[in-house]
Amino acid sequence: MESEVIFGRNLLAELSPTVNYPSLVVTMDDLWEKFGHHFQADTFRSHFVQSIEKTDLDKLVANSSDIKTVVGVGGGQAIDVAKYVAWRLNVPLFQVPTALSVNAPFAHRSAIRVDGVVKYVGFVRPHAVYIDYDIIQQAPDILNRTGVGDIFCYHTGHEDWRIAEKAGALEEKWPVDEGMIQEAQAVMRSCLDAADDIREVNEKGIQTLVAALQWGGEAFAKNGWNPRPIEGAEHTFFYALEYLTKKHFLHGQPVGLGTILVSLLQDNDPEWIKEALDRCGVPYRPEEMGVTWDDCVQALRYMSTYVTEAGLWYTAAAHFDITDDYLEKARELVYR
Ligand SMILES: [Zn+2]
Repeated sequence: MESEVIFGRNLLAELSPTVNYPSLVVTMDDLWEKFGHHFQADTFRSHFVQSIEKTDLDKLVANSSDIKTVVGVGGGQAIDVAKYVAWRLNVPLFQVPTALSVNAPFAHRSAIRVDGVVKYVGFVRPHAVYIDYDIIQQAPDILNRTGVGDIFCYHTGHEDWRIAEKAGALEEKWPVDEGMIQEAQAVMRSCLDAADDIREVNEKGIQTLVAALQWGGEAFAKNGWNPRPIEGAEHTFFYALEYLTKKHFLHGQPVGLGTILVSLLQDNDPEWIKEALDRCGVPYRPEEMGVTWDDCVQALRYMSTYVTEAGLWYTAAAHFDITDDYLEKARELVYR
């Protein structure tokens, strides 16, 4: 079952007569300055996210036992914390994303940290996701454009699936499912067809991206927690880059770069994916995300180790050697 998505304007004002109360608004303090006036004290209490550590979140849950509805207002962390609290309290959840940078508003599990390590827990379907055009369009363009990076990565994920099958390294529980691949490809095509709108963050671009992120967010659970239809070695590149540089990234940027690099490794139409990201205005060059080409080379070389250490499924990251010849072509492609 899909979550209800409500598009419109001035939607925060409609929450007050909608939610059962007392209601907890989970948000960030800078967003509260902008949007706090929509949440009256007789209906709402607020929580500003400082930590996504489980021990801190469990304290918040313990102090919220009287709460009847949770509302998440934010980009990434507020959405995940709202999801966690609603799940633990077993109360209805309303999500109001302030940018379209991730599929978290639609994904069932909440990404929290246990001793600093990411854990995905829970199973929550929001009552409704409010997409307010004015709120989304107020966010920096880059936040909304990079969301598409987490859609185009299906391109390399699907090739990884076939590579694993040919190599005899495919999980028995996850045979290649061409029907699922076609469904995912239709989602990618919808974004490519609306590339100009996504770059401009206009209403059609927002609608297209929301539909794609909803499909992607729900796909993991719907496919029996099989990640192969929606991600592969391009995410391994991102994790390796994050691990080695200890930097914080806007998800769609390193994933987008990873998709270009891995599609070249797979000999899987890298020009197509580069053009798609260019048309949507996703900045994927290393310097545009605060790292160097050399950092990326290190991450590419570290991928196979990362797969083993993190126990990830078999992909191009484990299948191919990173040769000097490949690195030369990759650099030329990324900076062309
Ligand atoms: Zn992702």
